Amino acid sequence: MAVHPGIVAADQAPEKPLPESLTPAEFNRAVAELRRAIGDEWVFTDDEGDLRTYRDVYSTLPDEANMPSAAVAPRSVEEIQAILKIARSYQIPLWTVSTGKNYAYGGPAPRKPGFFVLDLNRMKRIIEVNEEHGYAVVEPGVSYFELYNYLQRRGSKLWIDPAAPGWGSVLGNLLEHGAGYTPYGDHLLMNCGMQVVLADGTVVETGMGALSGSATSSLYKYGCGPWVEGMFTQSNFGIVTKVGIWLMPEPPGYRPYLVTFPREEDLYQITEIVGPLRLNMLIPNAATTVGLIWEAAPNATRKQYYRGKGPMPMRHRRKMAQDLDIGMWNFYGALYGPEPIMDNNWKVLEEAFRSIPGAKFFFEGDRPNDPAWRYRVKLMKGVPNMTEFSLMNWVGSGAHIDFSPRSPVTGEDSMKQFTLIRDRANEYGFDYIGEFLVGWRELLNIFQLIFDRLDEDERRRAHECFGHLVNDFAEQGYGEYRTHLNFMDEIAGTYNWNDGALWKLHHRLKQALDPVGILSPGKSGIWPASKS
Ligand code: ADP
Repeated sequence: MAVHPGIVAADQAPEKPLPESLTPAEFNRAVAELRRAIGDEWVFTDDEGDLRTYRDVYSTLPDEANMPSAAVAPRSVEEIQAILKIARSYQIPLWTVSTGKNYAYGGPAPRKPGFFVLDLNRMKRIIEVNEEHGYAVVEPGVSYFELYNYLQRRGSKLWIDPAAPGWGSVLGNLLEHGAGYTPYGDHLLMNCGMQVVLADGTVVETGMGALSGSATSSLYKYGCGPWVEGMFTQSNFGIVTKVGIWLMPEPPGYRPYLVTFPREEDLYQITEIVGPLRLNMLIPNAATTVGLIWEAAPNATRKQYYRGKGPMPMRHRRKMAQDLDIGMWNFYGALYGPEPIMDNNWKVLEEAFRSIPGAKFFFEGDRPNDPAWRYRVKLMKGVPNMTEFSLMNWVGSGAHIDFSPRSPVTGEDSMKQFTLIRDRANEYGFDYIGEFLVGWRELLNIFQLIFDRLDEDERRRAHECFGHLVNDFAEQGYGEYRTHLNFMDEIAGTYNWNDGALWKLHHRLKQALDPVGILSPGKSGIWPASKS
């Protein structure tokens, strides 16, 4: 981060959106107080320079729509408490980010102009790694790459479970209900213990950690009394400053595999087969069925196969599938454990997949020069990487916004979701680029709406298309599990059973925990009473 040029003079109105509560002079006074509290170089107000790094370059709206007024980057819980004191007295909204790389779901920029980003990137301590019991305790700024490299340097036999982009925060992704691709892929499930700073500055240790000198704060999740961790995820009830995360011991064997399927309609049968195998844990990790274009993107660009406008026609897609030796759907899975167990499980899996005509099988060594295969093999054994971002090369200056509904794991639901999204995307001129994952008992469909970020019309169409999808899916009883900043209110609005009782409860909690309304106003559609 660059050192900031200095305090803005009180009579110079900064050319940037200010929080509603502040006059330019108050803004400058608040900035000066923040600088005294945490050091000049860790308070950023220069939107041409440092502040630009906080914008979401993939937003469907113009940059200005999500620009912060300033950013503060504390190094400790004590500095966070000092910032909160100032924020409360000036009523400054603070939008917390950990590594702030959450582009798929809305980038690090706040919800509306006139906010300060609370950037926890500098809190980078890996507080504990316990090899015997298989866990780590980390601060917000620790990325998957950093935790992985740390374990490698120590010769650890513990795996991490990264999200597809390895630059993200272990803690940030867990708070957003993110997922990975090893058997420990449900990140919130693998969380054990949190430290949270509340808006009034109180520091809380959750679960067993609430017992002074606790021996089990990273071993047993539920403590005694209500289990509150979930409340601090996808919410604005507190600032999470530490999490425990369980790590999988390296298994004695690992066998990744890919099965390709030639027809779009095969999705029905694939889902019918995968559902029960996942449920009984013969497939122990996130079972991922990847659509053609997603699978092709590390190896090809759209222009190589089609230069026309609108969605790529089937005959061009078939040609691409043939050239790259991939399917309309591509199932990635892995076997873990001692050899005899893997041998036995594979017999069951192979027989099941062979029942789909045209299924082709690939194993280690079969696709030596295929980056798509290589990054899946890494992800399923917890090696962080960034290959998935090659999807951004699919169109010119690619950007994406992710639509991610959940449904039951049935062939019928998978086809319904696929066709709903494909048809809506095609109507707006976009390709269907998606994958389906089976978590535990639900099917997660991730649709990457890829558009050219330098094309105003494409941005506008992407925005409109996304809005329609939210409604299309709500009408079918499918909800999104996570969303972009620009659509949080809309999606929160679809969770409206019994006159919106759940979100009314969220608002009551918000009022109790953050009455001044300084923490991430609007996160998940939860607005402080003063701003709603
Ligand atoms: P990543 O870089 O892994 O994508 P981010 O740092 O962007 O993750 O965090 C994702 C979202 O999670 C943020 O926009 C914010 O709403 C929330 N968040 C992140 N860190 C915290 C935290 N320490 N406390 C509370 N909420 C957080």
